Amino acid sequence: MRLQSTRGKSGEVNFKQALFQGLAPDGGLYYPVESKSLKQLFTSLDSTHDFNHIAKAMSHAWLRDEWDETTIDAIVNRAFHFSPRCTSLTESMHVLELFHGPSSAFKDFGACFLASCMEEILLEEERKAIILVATSGDTGSAVAQAFFDKKNIDVVILYPSGRVSSLQEKQLTTLGKNIHALEVAGAFDDCQRMVKEAFCDKALNSRLTLTSANSISIGRLFPQSFYYVYAYAQLKERLQDNFVFCVPSGNFGNLTAGMYAWTWGLPVSRFIAATNINDVVPEYLKTKLFSPRASVHTLSNAMDVGNPSNFERMMMIFNGDGGKMAEMVHGEVVTDTQTRDEMGRLFHASNIFVDPHTAVGITACQRYMDKPENKNTAGVILSTAHPAKFIEIVEQATGNTPGIPDNLKKALALTKQATKVNNTLSDLREFLMDNFRH
Ligand SMILES: *Cc1c(COP(=O)(O)O)cnc(C)c1O
Repeated sequence: MRLQSTRGKSGEVNFKQALFQGLAPDGGLYYPVESKSLKQLFTSLDSTHDFNHIAKAMSHAWLRDEWDETTIDAIVNRAFHFSPRCTSLTESMHVLELFHGPSSAFKDFGACFLASCMEEILLEEERKAIILVATSGDTGSAVAQAFFDKKNIDVVILYPSGRVSSLQEKQLTTLGKNIHALEVAGAFDDCQRMVKEAFCDKALNSRLTLTSANSISIGRLFPQSFYYVYAYAQLKERLQDNFVFCVPSGNFGNLTAGMYAWTWGLPVSRFIAATNINDVVPEYLKTKLFSPRASVHTLSNAMDVGNPSNFERMMMIFNGDGGKMAEMVHGEVVTDTQTRDEMGRLFHASNIFVDPHTAVGITACQRYMDKPENKNTAGVILSTAHPAKFIEIVEQATGNTPGIPDNLKKALALTKQATKVNNTLSDLREFLMDNFRH
């Protein structure tokens, strides 16, 4: 996979090189330079093909210059001990459940594939790396679970003391082995600053290989394209010619991955970009003006993004033509009141619990399909988190408690293990120097 920066001022790299860089040196995001037609593969698939089969086939097509097929198969097998599932709300509305992985949210797909690839490379090159992550609660757990017990990799997670939910804290702090939690006396911004400072600290970087596992990494984005193809294969016999993917979006990585699958030949009619009131992208699709701003706190807080970084990648797909983008991507904005109402309605009508992010997606998709011109359209909504991850909000909206999956129950029962540190680089440096020698 040949990759270039969206800002065009860095050299071309391959997939392996991009994995350890995260951002390109010019501050842009890596995107695949060439397109490939995978139409033949997509046509050959049906509901008998499981997720791992699709992940392997797509990885063979894209990563054949970097690994042989046996190695790719091993990477995929190590990454995915879980699969998406398709369910249906009505005859024309389907839900792609992406929350059956280790942290019960869709970010598991990207994080597990990235972890598996990094482990492979580090073993091949006989070197070690430390992943540094700052988290406000939700995103850190997918990374922690994904890298747990991976060879030659340690993960250091910084989280703000007292500002993450108790479930989130358990998910971050109970794994042990190569996963190290630092409880920072400070806010999320302090955690983020400390990580950035560590990456810039020459003495530290001369002794240790520090790397990130950002959601903008192409190693997390690429595998997210697999489940769009999986949904298509599963539902193909039941989908009308017109079908849309509706994606609850914040930083727009998920939607970008779906659009990549489309550019490779997946027969999608349109994408719906469903957001909460942080609606920079839906606004752009209407006005062609991109005006990033500070984010606003909402119920679907993993989508509280005021300056979505993947917008640069979306623009590249359409060669900068906003009109073309607006033909393919339709924006819908959903308020907290509408989100809560939809959660309550679904529970009372059908006994179904959904998390607030998924509720944004369902509301947006319903609104789109209710329009007369979209009468013969089917919708596939990406369900991004298990309702038990947002249990207080779900309880308030439905008056009931969703079942808790085993992986979350297990985490809740374990004892927290975290090292308390001050919000300074010197505390982080000391922790790293004391604990790791490469
Ligand atoms: C991260 C996240 C999103 C948003 O995904 P993007 O790729 O950032 O658009 C939606 N729902 C949940 C539960 C998330 O964790």
